[in-house]
Order: sequence, then structure tokens, then C-alpha cells
Amino acid sequence: MSREGVTPQSEDFSAWYNDVVVQSLLVDRGPVRGTMVIRPYGYRIWELIQADLDAKIKDAGHENACFPLFIPESYLKREAEHVEGFSPELAVVTVAGGKQLEEPLVVRPTSETVIGEYMAKWIDSHRDLPLLLNQWANVVRWEMRPRMFLRTTEFLWQEGHTAHADEEDAMRETLWALDAYEKVARDLAAMPVVPGEKTPGERFAGAVRTYTIEGMMRDGRALQAGTSHYLGTNFAKAFEIDYQDENGDLTLAHTTSWGMSTRMIGGVIMTHGDDKGLVLPPRLAPYQVVIVPLGRKEQAEVTAAKAHEVAAELKAAGVRVHVDDKRPHLSPGFKFNDWEMRGVPVRLELGLRDIDGGVVTLARRLPTVEGQGKEQIPFGEIAARVPEILEDFHAFLLRRAEEFRDAHTAEVDTWEAFTEQVAEGWALALHCGTTACEDEIKAETAATPRCIPTAGEPAEGTCVKCDAPSAYGKRVIFSKSY
Ligand SMILES: [Zn+2]
Repeated sequence: MSREGVTPQSEDFSAWYNDVVVQSLLVDRGPVRGTMVIRPYGYRIWELIQADLDAKIKDAGHENACFPLFIPESYLKREAEHVEGFSPELAVVTVAGGKQLEEPLVVRPTSETVIGEYMAKWIDSHRDLPLLLNQWANVVRWEMRPRMFLRTTEFLWQEGHTAHADEEDAMRETLWALDAYEKVARDLAAMPVVPGEKTPGERFAGAVRTYTIEGMMRDGRALQAGTSHYLGTNFAKAFEIDYQDENGDLTLAHTTSWGMSTRMIGGVIMTHGDDKGLVLPPRLAPYQVVIVPLGRKEQAEVTAAKAHEVAAELKAAGVRVHVDDKRPHLSPGFKFNDWEMRGVPVRLELGLRDIDGGVVTLARRLPTVEGQGKEQIPFGEIAARVPEILEDFHAFLLRRAEEFRDAHTAEVDTWEAFTEQVAEGWALALHCGTTACEDEIKAETAATPRCIPTAGEPAEGTCVKCDAPSAYGKRVIFSKSY
């Protein structure tokens, strides 16, 4: 086994990313352009995201269901904006069972239409509302410029779909999902995302309002890490999702949809990674601790036996731990670099001298305070100390990412300052709110409005680009994005 080494971030961020995802054994390229094979190390990260988010979804009263992969093409055509938005990305089946199909089938790009059809069937009266559904699924959106995890033709996600009696209840739901995503990002991924609303030009196809959480990657670009949509009665009209209200009148339901996908893993990689490779936040690390027993032959037997003893203690303390004792042909130095490249938060080294001294040597993936190096921990304290060190490491990553984001974000009021700021990070600018002006900004700088931050201070003035009066009553985050 040999590894070529990772291209430094500063040299070429995109080459760094491609090296890291493959060399750290997260993914392999799929046989069809734009597809990916998620390897066990990468899939475990997804399972950890999934377990936490699924519990949140269920706690809030939603139920999981599973709808078909194939959707009749006519369903997509019922909501005009929806079909227009998704048409360029659709994969369509026209032949099946050796015959031309009478009606082409779309491989789901998202499931509002098919779920809408069944909501209409299942909802009769106000007593059937709210209807709170979620599904964990794969979806297909044909991708011209694929990037592992970030843009792949097929990806995994959850999609929540709910129906409500009125706008107020549907909006409460829309914002509940946004808050759940923010918590997953901060509490699991140590990503200090900014929640906010999308501008009309950036809305989901068919939505009345779209909300997003945006994270800053280490190259200063933004990543949309989860979205939540208030669909108004657009899909209710198209699919006849209506109910008898308390007065017996037929009323349209208000629907929502919201999704978080395997793209989050790309966000984790680009929020925390460095020139050595991945840096995994402990709550998403498949192995939070790796123990490397040192020595050769008989010595190795002694240190490996002790390593498994320590591993059992850590496991009992709820720590995900792996003992690297199956690769005797590799040097300790190679193993240390390998686990650093794969982003393991804490490494324990165990030699005969450590055992004699009654200690284990601990090394963090990154020092959480300046100048911090390896430290020795007495055997009796390992099970108590390691979980604390992992908690500290999470807090450190979150703080570091917050500081990085704040250092690369600035309010700008002139076009010159705007172009300079979006070259390296996020610009907080006043904007007129027209899609035509957004398009001009994108054509000149590649930056787009990421969101109108929920927590933004009131601000008014003139558009940073066209001098027309500003919209939204606050500044908008503009940035290049993934
Ligand atoms: Zn403008």
C-alpha cells in the first residue's frame, strides 16, 4: 500500500479535495460519470449524521415512509416552475422490459410530485393534518460538473414532506427543519453555519420561500448544507391536496419540503481539513481514537494485547476506537501519518516503555492550544480523560471555524470592495433584490447571494451593484459557492 501524498490546500484547493476524498478511503469514483461509491469509512460518517437527524425528525412527530424511485413524467409537468427548474437534470427511462414505454418515467430528482399525489389521496379532513412524512432515499440529478459528495449524479438524502391546514403552521414547520439542520451542523459537524432565507432568484423550483444553512469552506467559498422550503399552495393546487375545514368548506393545504444530503460530508471535509488531509469532528468520526501498538515480534504481541485492553475500556466509555495491529509491515511513522491523513481526532501510541511507565502517549490531530504536543496519560485515567479530550476537540474545531469565517467576512458598500471581498470570502452587501442584477453580479464575479441571514441587523441604502434602493431591510451574504 502506498499513498502519493495530498496536494497542499494553498497550492490547489480543488486538487487537495480530490486527493483527500480518495486517499482517506471515503469514496471511489463510480463507473458512470458523476456517480460515487461511498466506501465504509465515508458511509459511517453518513450513518452518524443519519442517526442523529432521524431521531430529531421522529421526536418532532414525523414518520418515515418510502415512495417509488420512478415517477410518471406527467406528475412533474403539473407544477410548471418545478418541471422547468428540474428538466435539465432529469434522467428519464423510455424503454423497460424490452419495450418502449407509453409514458416515460423520471428517476426521482426529489419527490414533491409523487408524495403530493398520495397526500391528496390520504388527506380528507382537517383532522388528517398536519401530515408529517420523511423519507431516506437516493435521488438522481444529472450532473455536468461532478465533484464527490458535493455534486454527484446520484446522492443520498432525507426529504421531509409535510402538509398543514394553514400558512402559519407550514411556516413553523419550515423553520423547525432549518433549526434541526443548524443543530446537526453545529453539534455534530462543528460547522458554524449561518441560517437565512434565499433571495427569490435562488429559491427551490416551485417554492414560495426557501431557507438555507450556509457554511464557509477553508477556501472562503460557501456551501449550502441543508434547505427547507415553504411551498405555499403551489403543489396543493397541482395535486389537489385539499381538506374539509371545520365549517365543511374545501380548503387547500399548505405544504413544505426540506432536505439534507451526503453533501454535508463534503462540507465537513472542507470546513476542517488541512494540508495533512482530513480533520474529522469527533461526533462524526468513524474512529474517534486509533491505538497504534509499537514494537516488533514478541514486543508487538505485548503492546497489542495492552492496546486491546485499553480499547475495551474506551469502548465501554462510549468511544469509537480502532486498534491498528494488523499491518506489521508498516512503520509507526507511516501509520501515524496515515491516521492523520484520515482525520482521526486522537491517536494513542503504546510502546513497551509506555507500558512499563503505566502510561499511554496521546496525540491530537491538531493542538487545541498553541504549542500543545503529545502527552502521557496514566492507564487508570484513560477512560475518563479521552471523552473529555474529544469534547474539547469538538469545541476547538467549532471555534476555529467560527474565527476563520469571521476573519473572511466583511461588510462592503462599494463595487470595488465587493469584488475584492468575494475573491477571498463572504461579502455582506445591500442589494436591490432583482434577479437581473444578481445575474450581472454572478457574470462578473462568480458570486451569488447565499442568504439573507436570519440574525442580520436592519440596514437600508442602495444596491452595491446598481445603486437602486436596497431590498430585504438587511444585508445579504454574497459569495462564490459549491
Ligand atoms: Zn441591484
